Amino acid sequence: MFSAILHSRWFAATVLLLTCFLCFLALLTVPDTAVFSSSVLTQPSVILDAGHGGMDGGAVAADGSAESHINLQITRRLALLMLFLGEEPVMTRTDESDLSSPDASSIRQQKVSDLHNRVDLINSADSAVVISIHQNMLPGHPEVRGAQVFYNSVPSADSLAAAIQQILNQSINTKDRAFKPIDSGVYLMKEIRHPAALVECGFLSNPKEAAQLGSAPYQKQLAAAIAAGYLQYQTKEGSYEK
Ligand SMILES: [Zn+2]
Repeated sequence: MFSAILHSRWFAATVLLLTCFLCFLALLTVPDTAVFSSSVLTQPSVILDAGHGGMDGGAVAADGSAESHINLQITRRLALLMLFLGEEPVMTRTDESDLSSPDASSIRQQKVSDLHNRVDLINSADSAVVISIHQNMLPGHPEVRGAQVFYNSVPSADSLAAAIQQILNQSINTKDRAFKPIDSGVYLMKEIRHPAALVECGFLSNPKEAAQLGSAPYQKQLAAAIAAGYLQYQTKEGSYEK
């Protein structure tokens, strides 16, 4: 038991070091081009979902930074890293727009339409693993910080979340956080039929962490940790054949 844990920790550390190295090579810039987008997905892939977008900026930090922009930056870095590792990543959005249909006029209609279209896009894949990127907010508690992973009810999603959380705890978090099942009220995570992990990368309500989340070096560390967790999950599930 102990040796298995030790082995697992060494493996995680090795994967993390490797991905960090690849990260610095591959992620010197964040691409602006929509190279990972697709309207219908059919092949097995990893689907990367940058939360919010368009009129919906998500949470807002004290310095005015919108969650939607930070989500997009981290997701782009993660997509590049996945590509470099031989995966076939697809992003649900590749720019600041949302996925709402043109006939959605009010903000509420746009939000509903965006979520429906996001679910349809993700579920159009035959099989996939989904990683959704968000930032957290806890007003009144500026000291709270750290990355936390939530998972949906599809089999093996908990293993995916556990692997990502483990690497985040070892590399990013100053205090260990626990991965948890997602609240049943989160529409996207409830409706998608693939194993999915939602990563709350940090708290925009913590000024110091908000500044880190907006910085390229920290975004690269986050992307590397999430990619390493994904690789560990794929290895454990026996489906990583590259
Ligand atoms: Zn969010």
